[in-house]
Amino acid sequence: MSETLPHLRSELIAAGQFFHARGWVPATSSNFSARLGSDEILITSSGQHKGRLDDSGFLRADLNGISLDAGKRPSAETGLHTIMYQRDPAMGCVLHTHSVNATVLSMRLDAVTLQGYELQKAFPGITTHEGQVVIPVFANSQDIAALAVEVGQYLDAHPATVGYLIRGHGMYTWGASVADTLRHVEALEFLFECVYRQLLLDR
Ligand SMILES: [Zn+2]
Repeated sequence: MSETLPHLRSELIAAGQFFHARGWVPATSSNFSARLGSDEILITSSGQHKGRLDDSGFLRADLNGISLDAGKRPSAETGLHTIMYQRDPAMGCVLHTHSVNATVLSMRLDAVTLQGYELQKAFPGITTHEGQVVIPVFANSQDIAALAVEVGQYLDAHPATVGYLIRGHGMYTWGASVADTLRHVEALEFLFECVYRQLLLDR
């Protein structure tokens, strides 16, 4: 067992508690993963409440999403995690949440365009509020393999993307470490709240 496993697991457990306190991981929704090695990830197992994760709520999987822990089943959405690790050897963490704001905005918009917000600087390579950060919205699907292909094609064309929404479902974001990815979740959720309130004011 990798020495980093207990550390990454405790980071993901803490992330779940934080997200749960904010209302971003209701019921048994959402899933979290982190890279253990060149061809191995740690990911939450199916059906876990993410606010009450313990050490047993995880499994190791390869980058094709195949469980490396006998008897443990990865989340149905594992393919949306593994595609990110397959694409980038520096990818260290993928976090998927189901907040109200992310879900509602995804029902109304085809993309969430963030512009003029200081907090855009929470994302890698962004040094000013002046640019645009576009968060695309993909149609929800129970065919995760097909959705992963669609996401991959979008990211090929838009490599600076920091996250995406799935309509009526939730958000995916990623980063080099769990800490970086937590920052991206927190920044995106703050920005989604801003966009949501602006839409209300503009009515
Ligand atoms: Zn989900």
